[in-house]
Amino acid sequence: VNDSYGHGTGDQLIRAVAAGLKVLIPQGAVLARIGGDEFAIAFLSDGENAAALQLAEQILDFLVEPLEIGRRVVVVGASIGIAMSPAGALDREELVRRSDLAMYKAKEAGRARMTLYDPSMDADRQQRNALELDLRIAIESGDLTLAYQPLVDAGTHALTGVEALVRWNRPGHGPVSPEVFIPIAETSGLIESLGLFVLRKACETAKQWPELNVSVNVSPGQFRNPAFTDYVRYVLKQTEIEASRITLEITEGYMIQNPQRTRQSIERLKGLGVKVALDDFGSGFSSIGYLRQFGFDRIKIDRSLVMGVNEDKRQREMLQATVALARSLDIPVTAEGIETEGQAVAMRLFGCDCLQGYLFGKPLAAERITEMLNE
Ligand code: C2E
Ligand code: CA
Ligand code: CA
Ligand code: CA
Repeated sequence: VNDSYGHGTGDQLIRAVAAGLKVLIPQGAVLARIGGDEFAIAFLSDGENAAALQLAEQILDFLVEPLEIGRRVVVVGASIGIAMSPAGALDREELVRRSDLAMYKAKEAGRARMTLYDPSMDADRQQRNALELDLRIAIESGDLTLAYQPLVDAGTHALTGVEALVRWNRPGHGPVSPEVFIPIAETSGLIESLGLFVLRKACETAKQWPELNVSVNVSPGQFRNPAFTDYVRYVLKQTEIEASRITLEITEGYMIQNPQRTRQSIERLKGLGVKVALDDFGSGFSSIGYLRQFGFDRIKIDRSLVMGVNEDKRQREMLQATVALARSLDIPVTAEGIETEGQAVAMRLFGCDCLQGYLFGKPLAAERITEMLNE
């Protein structure tokens, strides 16, 4: 069960969901709460999976309707995994293990999905475990590196800053995308040490470039940690970097779930003198109503939005409206993923003061940035 507004998996909510499930399940089926917000339903069928699929669909349909919890209306969703035990051949543990694997696959696929177990999921899980182990070793032995992507002034195209992006060359496999290993770090408790490494390395390196701003990505797992501000303070002190040159980029996912705590964290971070930017704006939920109260120093328009700027009239208008909104709040806007002159011109016209993308430079080794500054 996924409570998308983060009101928590409080007992009231769990009870309301359980009551709904009880009505839906077939005669003789067993409904159990496995723990937290996870439920299992077991029943006998004729050996086909049609009954399970149909039930899963009914459950997803039921959860589409908002639930009334006291005076609150809560929207919940679910990810469902289905496993079959032909003629009772599997023991209970194995059946639960398989449906659990399938459930995680459903979760990865997006909101409100159902997935049937298939044996390739075991192989996937093994690969994932191996990757996680290698990542742990890489973090401990300092084998991660940082690349720095140029940020330029929208008018002059002069270099004004860089965004630090983590890189991992996995032994025996080659480079792995952060889009693959950051989510794994998030779910395996590695994100804090990874994040700390990135922040420290970026701050140390930034000292060579007194004229540049340095942006560092912060993932929800770091931001969620109440001690995050403390370790930012510690790294700033340890590396003796001017705090105002550091921008922390956060994405909107966590923010929507925990507006209250996000606001407090941002306030404390700004108290340290660092800047805080909203990353990937326009890619997910629209959090427009919230924007003002968070006090962001900058908004970064997501590459997926920028991409279509000169292609589709509707996309162009949406993009224009998004930038206009940010600007009406007096928040400076960066456009990311600029690959063509046309995109650069359009984004500047819309009011972005800062541009980032392959047109101006790919993520580069620190030495290359130093060279650019000396050119
Ligand atoms: P992001 O923060 O949105 O970073 C921008 C991504 O877009 C980078 O991918 C960058 O290489 C890519 N990019 C920039 N300009 C262009 C362009 O013109 N065209 C195209 N096609 N791509 C462009 P990268 O380095 O693979 O990072 C992917 C994501 O992984 C980042 O998205 C960020 O969410 C995450 N990430 C990267 N480094 C870190 C890190 O140190 N910590 C955390 N927490 N997340 C990181
Ligand atoms: Ca959940
Ligand atoms: Ca970013
Ligand atoms: Ca981004």
